[in-house]
Amino acid sequence: MIKKLYNKKSKDILIENLEAETFNRITCSFYNYIKINSPFDFRNKLYSLFHTLNIFGRIYVADEGINAQISVPSHNWAKFLKTISEISELSDVQIKKAISEGISFYKLVVKVKKEIVAYRIPKNKYNMKIIGKHLSTEQFNSAINKEQTTIIDMRNIYESEVGKFKNAEIPQVEKSKDLLPEVRRMLKGREHHQVLLYCTGGIRCEKASSFLINEGIENVKQLKGGIIQYAHDIKKNGVKSKFIGKNFVFDARLGERVSDDIISNCHICNKSSDIHRDCKNDACHILFIQCQECERDLNGCCSDKCKEIASLPIETQKDLRKNRNSPDKRRYFKSPQL
Ligand SMILES: [Zn+2]
Ligand SMILES: [Zn+2]
Repeated sequence: MIKKLYNKKSKDILIENLEAETFNRITCSFYNYIKINSPFDFRNKLYSLFHTLNIFGRIYVADEGINAQISVPSHNWAKFLKTISEISELSDVQIKKAISEGISFYKLVVKVKKEIVAYRIPKNKYNMKIIGKHLSTEQFNSAINKEQTTIIDMRNIYESEVGKFKNAEIPQVEKSKDLLPEVRRMLKGREHHQVLLYCTGGIRCEKASSFLINEGIENVKQLKGGIIQYAHDIKKNGVKSKFIGKNFVFDARLGERVSDDIISNCHICNKSSDIHRDCKNDACHILFIQCQECERDLNGCCSDKCKEIASLPIETQKDLRKNRNSPDKRRYFKSPQL
């Protein structure tokens, strides 16, 4: 029998299958910076093991490590933990459950990549053995209040748009490859500051902190486990969150609420809203923020143009898609691939 090492079913069938499931799933994530000797073999091994456990999600493998966001059937949770503990490259990873559950993934994708976080900086600009000090939620909360402190959000601008630490500075870049040079520029003249970094789950700060230390910024610290761990700890300890709004996530949920604050506005009517949407026009799929009223008016599309296209018969849409052209140039972030 030929082993199936990737998914071959269509998206519609996969979603139907997911909706018909009679059990719960647990969404979680983990990462590890560790030398993977043969990323392709490792990828195949992981795909087989996780496929057997009916795990969905998105996993990146590179020779520098692994980054995984997955959804595990709850009846397979113990088996999943055992499987992880038996893979030497993963035996000590911190597995973080999602802040709030919901349909996250509907298939398993395991990809070999050049880097697990694509900053595209040369290897001689960082050393993963020298990274910023990890701070727990409690330590991070008290570090925020110190004098001469700079807090930097290490995520994309569409992520910090709906949620961030109150006094965090947001690097104004649209591409990951521009992020670290921009953060370095922002810290010019503040090299002696305590620099606090955070991201969704911690993975992006590991490499970023190493890069900044290499640049001569000595007092770099990072939030251990990122916003996800922070939100869990805040809830558990009944402490007021210094993170306001939502935690953006790269799956069908698009966000998890951390505090009740709504810090962004609808991109259509400018009313207060922090609901990210993926434009319903299949040829568009822009990621944007839209309030419920505008969602109703535009049938979940980003513009009248997309609404018009989305309402055409599917065959006509397919023809239009061939001459694919973005309908409106306001904000161009592609929705995360699920
Ligand atoms: Zn609106
Ligand atoms: Zn659109």
